[in-house]
Formats: sequence, C-alpha cells, structure tokens
Amino acid sequence: MANIHLDHLRENIALVRKKTGKAICLPVKADAYGHGALTIAKTSLAAGVEYLAVAAVEEGEELRQGGITAPIMLLSVVLPEEIDALIAMELEPLAGDDEYITALEGGAARAGKTLSVHLKIDTGMGRLGCPPGEAAALASRIAESKNLKLAGTATHFAVSDSAKPEDQAFTSHQWETFHLAVKSIRDAGIDPGLIHAANTGAVTFHNDAWFDMIRPGILLYGYAPENKEGKPALAVKPLMELKSALVFIKTIKKGQSLSYGRTWTAAEDTLIGTIPLGYGDGLSRLLSNNWQVLAGKELRPLAGRICMDQCMVDLGKNSTARRWDPVTIFGGPAPHAGIMAARLNTIPYEITCNINKRVPRVYID
Ligand SMILES: *Cc1c(COP(=O)(O)O)cnc(C)c1O
Repeated sequence: MANIHLDHLRENIALVRKKTGKAICLPVKADAYGHGALTIAKTSLAAGVEYLAVAAVEEGEELRQGGITAPIMLLSVVLPEEIDALIAMELEPLAGDDEYITALEGGAARAGKTLSVHLKIDTGMGRLGCPPGEAAALASRIAESKNLKLAGTATHFAVSDSAKPEDQAFTSHQWETFHLAVKSIRDAGIDPGLIHAANTGAVTFHNDAWFDMIRPGILLYGYAPENKEGKPALAVKPLMELKSALVFIKTIKKGQSLSYGRTWTAAEDTLIGTIPLGYGDGLSRLLSNNWQVLAGKELRPLAGRICMDQCMVDLGKNSTARRWDPVTIFGGPAPHAGIMAARLNTIPYEITCNINKRVPRVYID
C-alpha cells in the first residue's frame, strides 16, 4: 500500500504560500503524480489552493464527477474530437495558435458558452505555445471572440529547478521574454488575465517569476530541488510512503542463488524475506540488488531480481524479523522517492507516477 500523508500536503501548501504569497494552481495530472487526484484535489482546495491543472480531458472529468467545482486548467493540447467534452467539463485550455483557438471557439459556439482560455507563450521550453512576437495578436484574437475569454497568460520553464549559473541565466532569459510578451499584450490594450509561469523550480529559485499565480507540482508533493550545496532548497515533506510486508521468511544456505537470472548468491547462511510487491506495481526492476528497504529499524538490501509481483530482501542471519512484519520500500522513516530517483538516474515524478492502481492508496490525516 501507499500511505499518502495529507497533513504533509497541507504543510507544504502553507510553506509555499508563506514564501510566495501568491495564488496557487496545483497540477493534479497523472492522478496527482500518483497520489490520487480526487483526494489531493479536495484536500488542497480545502487548504486554500485556488486552481487545479490536468493534462487530459478524462482527468478533468474525473474531478468534475467527483464534485470539484474549482477552476481546472487543461495543460496539454487535446484532439479536435475532445473539445466538446472539455467545454462540457468547463476545463480551461492553454492555447498558443490560431488553428487550435478557432477549434475551441467553434466548440464554445456550438455549446452556446463562453470558454475561458489561457494564452501559452513559448519562451524556451519548445513544447507548446506561440512565439513571443505573436502573443499580442493571439491575445486579441481570444479577447475579441464572442465565445472565448482570455482568462490568463502563461509560459513554462525548462531548467528553473537547476542551481547551475548557466541554467539560472536561461531561466532569467525566459522570464524576460515572457515579461516583454505580457507587456506587448497590455500595450495593445488587452487584459492578459492571470499571469502564471512558475513551476517548482521557479517557485524555489526565481522570485521574479511568480507573477499572479504559481504552478508548483512536485514541490507540493514533497520534493524540493537541490541548492548549490546539493541540499533540498525548501523544507517540504514527501507525501508518499510505499509500504508492504514480509509474507514469507526462510533460511538460504551459503552458495544458494535467488530469483530469475540467479543474479544474487548467498555469501553466508542468511534469512530471506519475500515481499509481495514488484515491477507490476511500479517498483522499477532496475532496483534489483540496488536498493535497501526498511525492515524493523534496519535498512536491508533487496536480493535478486525484482519479479512482477514480488521481491526479496536479505534480512541477515541474526534478523529478528517475523513473518507479516511491515517493510517500508520508500518514504516515511525510509529514504524517500527522491533518493530512489537519484539511484535510478531519474526524477521523483517518475517514481511516484509509476506506483500504479494495483497499490491501494491509504490516506493519512
Ligand atoms: C506539470 C506542470 C507544472 C508543474 O511542474 P513541477 O515541476 O511539478 O512543479 C507546471 N506547469 C505545467 C505547464 C506543467 O505541465
């Protein structure tokens, strides 16, 4: 099971609010980075978060069906056939080109509604959005449409979470480009709506990029970027704690091997525990012989290949562990998902997103 600490979410929101004093949009895409979108949405809104963001229409639909009435931004560009649904769900799309804006306008006209749209400007991420030079024209295209409303103007940073000087310079350049594009919209006599840009990295390192609203995701899930000293730059608390249990314990003799591929052999007689959690649950197979889990008060190494549904831990010959004892894979008193991510050369986002539906989420309040 994955324990999700909602008290940590509230504390992280309070900390970020105190630091920035800005409105907060919480991205709850990919099932709230694996934490469970609806519960995270409800808890964060109750804690004062103003906006939510999703990446797919279905994700917005899940929230609306769950009773969420707060504004929800739709970060990705969706297919033409999804536009009617996004309007029915009252999602607020980010748009950065005339063709997409026209398609959204058509959908809104068909539904007889006014759709709130956020203009997305590409200042260096290179993923979505208009060139800064086109921002004013597109803003006026949206603002003048009978069925559209310019609710906001946005950009997204590529390296804002890095403490390296060259990356900080790139972010400053993105900020400056965005600032000028917003100014060009204002100079054209158009209200750009809510100005928002700051992801986790910019919330942490770039005060000037906070504008009206911030969009921190991973930070509120409890993982902060590292400062120049390699330490977490903000004292947020991870929400997710992946736990399981020892469902079987046995003695393995010196020289015996374990699991597929026989990649691990006992150097001495030892006790081996079997844990009912594997790569089918989202525990990366690359952690085979490459991670330690907390059993009792001790961190003990995984032994042998991680299987689809199970893995094994070398408890040591003097272990006092008993069958059914709990083990912690990451989080809580054990090393958190950010440390596991570093081991795998990836980011905590991927670790928590990958813990899939088979693992029940247990909400701790
Ligand atoms: C996911 C996302 C965010 C949040 O990013 P973090 O790095 O988790 O803070 C913000 N803005 C956009 C457009 C995103 O897609």
